[in-house]
Amino acid sequence: MSRPNIVILGGGYGGMVTSKRLEKFLKAGEAKVTLINKHDYHYLTTQLHKIGAATAADRQIALSIPEIINPEKTNFIKAEVAAVDANKQEVHLVGGEKVPYDYLVIALGFEVATFGIPGIKENAFEIRSFRSSKAIYHHILKQFNLYKQDQDPSRLTFVVAGGGFTGIEMVGELVDAMPKLCKEHGVPFEQVKLVAVEAAPSVIPFFPKESIEYTTQFFEKHNVRLITSKKILECTPEEIRLENGENIPTRTVVWSCGVKGNTIIEKFGLPVEKGKIPVDPYLRVKNMKNIFSIGDNALFMKNEKSALPPTAQVALQQAPVCAKNIVAAIRDEALTTFEYHHKGSVASLGTRAAVGLVGSVRLSGLIGAFMKQVIEARYLFMLGGPALIFKQHFGVSHEPVKITAKQ
Ligand SMILES: Cc1cc2nc3c(=O)[nH]c(=O)nc-3n(C[C@H](O)[C@H](O)[C@H](O)COP(=O)(O)OP(=O)(O)OC[C@H]3O[C@@H](n4cnc5c(N)ncnc54)[C@H](O)[C@@H]3O)c2cc1C
Repeated sequence: MSRPNIVILGGGYGGMVTSKRLEKFLKAGEAKVTLINKHDYHYLTTQLHKIGAATAADRQIALSIPEIINPEKTNFIKAEVAAVDANKQEVHLVGGEKVPYDYLVIALGFEVATFGIPGIKENAFEIRSFRSSKAIYHHILKQFNLYKQDQDPSRLTFVVAGGGFTGIEMVGELVDAMPKLCKEHGVPFEQVKLVAVEAAPSVIPFFPKESIEYTTQFFEKHNVRLITSKKILECTPEEIRLENGENIPTRTVVWSCGVKGNTIIEKFGLPVEKGKIPVDPYLRVKNMKNIFSIGDNALFMKNEKSALPPTAQVALQQAPVCAKNIVAAIRDEALTTFEYHHKGSVASLGTRAAVGLVGSVRLSGLIGAFMKQVIEARYLFMLGGPALIFKQHFGVSHEPVKITAKQ
């Protein structure tokens, strides 16, 4: 094979790090690398809740892909993937263009799971992409303006559904953002109601007891009404209906009750199990030698019964192994098996608090928030070294990001 074509689908955590590692591992002229992503920016998915509450500048969360990649080593195509033809070794883009590949990396991420609950898809907001998160912020401002006209209290009632990692991070961000947003837009802050609804008996049930208590107290301290052990049965544009019969009038529901693999993978003619692409220990799609899948759209079994969870941590550990294995395959060398090492998790509660567990050390409050910053900075370092950390903290542009692609 002369100069193989490596094509990476998705410029999220998995796709970006794979392309950066390939830039490093490949010798000059050894292969052609193409990265395809729906947008020309790489959004930091783990921080999207900050866009929903406008507590970060657009460019702190949406980084320009052309500025991160080395254009001499990686060709970037801004396009939406429509399908893959594994027999012809082609990627089909929306608009009809076809991109041939010899090696393919599928890293197209997640979609929000709504579990078929009536009205969620139509009426609730999702923290799924930069665009969907920005929509939350615009909707909050719209409700502020409408409240000034009709004083309907449901316009100032903001519900976050799901007390998992993403849900508590969204609540924490709203707690931080609301006083300032209300002041800026002339809305009485004391009329704002924040409500968190969780079907399980507590928030973040997979965290240590102390972290659950800290988060619950944080909610109490900031007047967030926490409803646990109650499922949402329906969401309309004007209210949510809970299983205990209570209806909460609200115009804003942020749904963060779980994710599933990107459903586009169903159009790829590849195996799909539990909504994801099953991969072997080398991260290759089962029974395929030249297609790899990583991150949230991949099903990697850590043992016979359970798969790795959809986290950035998993995607970030898989990407370097994926890049290494593609280079090894091109060179006809032995491939490396992927082993996951859980390093811990830290969930933010706004900018000044967080809860989590790193190794066996439990963190909360300011120290937790500091650790969260360290984790985020570490990722920037992985992507662009100290220069990117510096730029994102001190030289970030305050121009709004222009959203062109749908979703
Ligand atoms: C608010 C929030 C907080 C989180 N916090 C944490 C955390 O603290 N720690 C942690 O480990 N995990 C966290 N996660 C989970 C983590 O963000 C995901 O597991 C991670 O983003 C998965 O990486 P990925 O590369 O598989 O997909 P993504 O990062 O989602 O990237 C997928 C990319 O593919 C692109 N794409 C999708 N469809 C197409 C298409 N058809 N054509 C072209 N491009 C397409 C998307 O635009 C995106 O750029 C959080 C998630 C959310 C939503």
